[in-house]
Amino acid sequence: MTTRPTVTLIEGDGIGPEITAATLRALEAAGATIAWERADAGAGAVAKHGDPLPQATLDSIKRNKLALKGPLGTPIGGGYRSVNVTLRQTFDLYANVRPAQTIPGVPCRYTNVDLVIVRENTEDLYAGVEHYVDPRRTAAESIAIITKFGSERVIKYAFEYARSHGRKKITLVHKANILKMTNGLFLDTGREVAKQYPDIAFDDMIVDATAMKLVTRPEQFDMIVTMNLFGDILSDLTAGLIGGLGVAPAANIGDGGCAMFEAVHGTAPDIAGKGIANPIAAILSAAMLLRYSLNMEKDADRIEQGVLRVLEQGHRTADIAAKGTRATGTREMGDLIVRELERQY
Ligand code: NAD
Repeated sequence: MTTRPTVTLIEGDGIGPEITAATLRALEAAGATIAWERADAGAGAVAKHGDPLPQATLDSIKRNKLALKGPLGTPIGGGYRSVNVTLRQTFDLYANVRPAQTIPGVPCRYTNVDLVIVRENTEDLYAGVEHYVDPRRTAAESIAIITKFGSERVIKYAFEYARSHGRKKITLVHKANILKMTNGLFLDTGREVAKQYPDIAFDDMIVDATAMKLVTRPEQFDMIVTMNLFGDILSDLTAGLIGGLGVAPAANIGDGGCAMFEAVHGTAPDIAGKGIANPIAAILSAAMLLRYSLNMEKDADRIEQGVLRVLEQGHRTADIAAKGTRATGTREMGDLIVRELERQY
């Protein structure tokens, strides 16, 4: 008898419970047998435990090393610190991997996008060093922290990922013309690391030009490695290149097998509770989990194929449905994917 791996499960806020329910059903239908350890975080945890990130949740991730996470809301301007950022920093999940690949049948402007963004996940302006300069709060400053250590490990991760996934070129994205020290350090480190990987082409590009080129000719990009803030913004842009946040998966990877998988999108408060959210990004993130360290590549393939078939059959949630056509709800999309997987399995 094989033992089932245990993975921490955080449903998340907003549309989290809806998309997580569809994801768990898809995993089960694909034959991926996982023992889920449910844990609370975010607004739901504040309501239940008075704490957005209870110790029990941290202990669970520490124990299992793997987590599947729904989106967590972050109060804007005040309130508690982002739980997402805290989780990534606590477990040192320094590489945020965000693939963006054209999905046949999903309406969008491009047919030829196939790239991966590796975003540094623990430093930069997200390091949490921010304060008001004066008591009247008329000025504030935020400090971007970039270290050689942090840069080197994420850039190395990107090169290793390129090798293991058959990718040929890495573009390092920066603003070193203006931010000469922080971004200059990231760029210089990239140039050094690139010398150790002569089999992978390497170039660099300024972030504003990158944004323009991603929109005009996305096919020229294979992999992008960049710092936290630029990676955050550009990966929403690349999600837009393939049909939107509803279909964009992601992984947060650290050393020693610790990793957390979640969709790129947030809690989508505008549609939460309406049963119309697209569960595909969350389902594809779960497929990344299976492939990453659970040796369940076949189940991951099945899930991805199942999603593709359902899209080929013309089913669309509202975010990716053509105007005037009938949209499929979250639950129904989950049912269709489960049915497809049960046919394959
Ligand atoms: P969002 O990603 O939640 O939503 C942006 C837009 O995309 C909305 O119109 C939303 O309806 C739509 N959308 C997102 N996911 C969708 C899905 N699966 N199906 C259909 N439509 C979808 O971004 P936001 O509104 O800027 O952020 C809302 C909250 O989420 C904030 O508190 C933010 O901090 C948080 N957030 C969390 C994460 C995370 O947990 N990793 C990531 C981003 C934002």
